[in-house]
Amino acid sequence: MKPIKKNPLSGLLGVLLTLAVLISPAAALTPAEAEARVKADDATVKFLEHLCDDHGGRLSGSAANVAAMADLEAELRALGLEPTRETFPMPGWVRQEDTLTMLAPVHREMRALGLSYLDPTGPLSGPVVDLGAGAPEDFEQEIPAGAIGLFGPSSRGRAGDVGQRAFEHGMAGLMFINRVDGGQLLARTGGFHGEPLPLPIFSITQEEGFLDTSVDCAASGRWGYQTRSFNQPVQVDNLRVRIPGKSDETVLVGGHFDSWENGQGAIDNGLGVAQLLALARVLRDADLDRTVELVWYNGEEQGLWGSRYAVDEGADAKRPPAVMVNLDMVGVPIGVNAMGHDDLVTLLDWWNESRGEGRLEQGVTNQPWMASDHTPYQVNGVRVITFYAPIRQESVRYYHDFADTFDKLTPELIKDSAGVVASLVVELANAPDLPSGLVPPDQVEQLLKAAKLEERLKGSGLWKF
Ligand SMILES: [Zn+2]
Repeated sequence: MKPIKKNPLSGLLGVLLTLAVLISPAAALTPAEAEARVKADDATVKFLEHLCDDHGGRLSGSAANVAAMADLEAELRALGLEPTRETFPMPGWVRQEDTLTMLAPVHREMRALGLSYLDPTGPLSGPVVDLGAGAPEDFEQEIPAGAIGLFGPSSRGRAGDVGQRAFEHGMAGLMFINRVDGGQLLARTGGFHGEPLPLPIFSITQEEGFLDTSVDCAASGRWGYQTRSFNQPVQVDNLRVRIPGKSDETVLVGGHFDSWENGQGAIDNGLGVAQLLALARVLRDADLDRTVELVWYNGEEQGLWGSRYAVDEGADAKRPPAVMVNLDMVGVPIGVNAMGHDDLVTLLDWWNESRGEGRLEQGVTNQPWMASDHTPYQVNGVRVITFYAPIRQESVRYYHDFADTFDKLTPELIKDSAGVVASLVVELANAPDLPSGLVPPDQVEQLLKAAKLEERLKGSGLWKF
């Protein structure tokens, strides 16, 4: 038997290698480690509770929004990070007391809220007209001048479109019946352009909207309103944190900071605010291949103003990220969406399969959707990724409304969702096969047309092709 010759260096090499691992400045963070650390960290839950309870809703341009963002900035600085602000102008809106009153057949002050961007008008009154679903054919009836229309809740198209139709028919106002029952207002409304409404539009409850006296136009119903809310231009900030990696190529993770003002904006989108903070906490000392940037956008609810500014004129116009991950009302993910970017599917599949037991049950989907902060990026050729991460119905029904409050979330929902997000972000930051460069405009156009988003994008002023 031939004796094995011992390599005199092997012992020394082993020691050196061990030492190198022990003294390396930051051990590489794996997706699984990032997720475990985020799930064990209660700090973001506490911060979101403070943000919601102390400041309430964070309407862009409001004092609450400014104060809440100052708190977030201080929190990030305390972590040793250097957040930067990106200031941009947008059309703001200030809610004041707007009233809607049923005058006949009975007198009743209605539980009602004006849609954003209504202007001061009135007091005015007029006969009521039943507009059904608010579709074009619903307007094919005799409409007295100065009438106030009632429509919904299964309205087709957006309240703004119905408003334009009503304005062209010489109507004086609109009431739309809320889509969710239980005295709720403004649930699931959105999609604004930042232009003053052509006429006042009020959200009213299902319970009052479906009253016989509300819908029975033959009963000489008459309504009155007065609006005091007003429009004004505002300057607001996006907040951004850069966590440098070995390369300048950037993985951007964004979510909107602003909310509607009636509730606390906990689900929409305090959750995303907290998930981004969780990422800042776990990634700040990680040794990543790519740079990670975290952005808290303002102005999302009122028309994606912050993300549009960032990618059209701001930091991301000068240096577009390799990929943008959007966090808007992301519960614990059960799927991840390549958003029509075929060249991301393999990587996302690999990430999901490598999660083993924690594999997202719906896997990877590849279906673009629009109307949150990823949309301006996608239109500009940046690859975007979103999650399929539904929040339970008994909580999510309240978004945009008074009851979108911290109690609708649980610590587990906040931490577990943030953990999955952190896992993906670490994967994207280190993946050797992440596609780079922008998607050519003709391919983006094709992708969005195939997803039948062209008309809606044109309606939102986001279509660039
Ligand atoms: Zn949102």
